[in-house]
Amino acid sequence: MNRNFPILLAEDHVVTRKLLEKKLVQAGHEVTSVENGRDALRLFENRFFPIILTDWIMPEMDGLELCRAIRKMHSKGYVYIVLLTAKDGKDDIILGLESGADDYLTKPIDHLELIARLNTAKRILSLEKSLKDANEENILLSVTDSLTGCYNRGYLNETLPNEIERARRYDHDLSIVFCDIDHFKKVNDTHGHQVGDLVLKEFVQRIRELVRDKVDWIARYGGEEFMVVLPETDVTGACSMAKRLRSSLADRKILIHDKMLSVTSSFGVTGINLDTSVSMKKFDTIIGQVDKFLYQAKEKGRDCIVSGVL
Ligand code: GH3
Ligand code: MG
Ligand code: MG
Ligand code: MG
Repeated sequence: MNRNFPILLAEDHVVTRKLLEKKLVQAGHEVTSVENGRDALRLFENRFFPIILTDWIMPEMDGLELCRAIRKMHSKGYVYIVLLTAKDGKDDIILGLESGADDYLTKPIDHLELIARLNTAKRILSLEKSLKDANEENILLSVTDSLTGCYNRGYLNETLPNEIERARRYDHDLSIVFCDIDHFKKVNDTHGHQVGDLVLKEFVQRIRELVRDKVDWIARYGGEEFMVVLPETDVTGACSMAKRLRSSLADRKILIHDKMLSVTSSFGVTGINLDTSVSMKKFDTIIGQVDKFLYQAKEKGRDCIVSGVL
């Protein structure tokens, strides 16, 4: 538990520093100690510490300056700062807290009190961590399609323009495969919506088996329509992915409960051709184009792929 919250200790008085370090290590903490505020700040710039114990009066940079500098930084989490000081006047305490300290301990340090104050720090930091985790979970939920677990339309609208811009700026390939399950209404009408839902989940699973983890991504565009975004992939590469997906459906029926369902899909594929003008490489243009190709695949009789380059 203690090792989750490493401590940075800044104290110029060598005996006090060594003694504090010993007591903290005995209490199970991981401690890094330095002899002034500047060294503490330098270290902190390269490594995050959730707890800082700092003396007030030190050469080079004192504890108050250190507090202010830390509070100005954008660190990856909250830093709980405890000021260690011989100054215990009311004005001193106010100044210390105003400089960004969360707490203070007056010297000589009572070690039991120090451990008790650190327990308070840990409670606050644990609370911050659980809030952060909940926030991350909420962010993830807000971009996820609840049925299939792939990204939702909102994520697509937000992220695809950035992908396009990045591909354009760095002259990288980017392709899109637009999938629309064939006669999906009939699946619902024949087997019910719950079976239809399971087919959608399995469809996304089949795509996942064929795309690169953490590079390619899938978004649900609408009911039974999915967009697969393939960065660093040209249209030929995207077509071969679409072909493998088409075969995966044609060759392997979907087993739902005790029923084997034959499901096919039509595909539109397009990608950015770096030779065409920048204005052509807009989000709406690409979506419009890939939708047109998908429509042509439906017109051709479904269960096929139509592709082209923008
Ligand atoms: P096409 O080959 O032309 O694409 O025909 P289709 O039947 O797949 O297309 P259509 O647009 O007529 O019907 C899509 C169906 O998808 C209708 C709708 O009820 C169903 N659908 C949309 N979202 C869901 C869902 O979340 N679950 C289920 N079970 N069905 C859905
Ligand atoms: Mg000092
Ligand atoms: Mg459709
Ligand atoms: Mg359809």
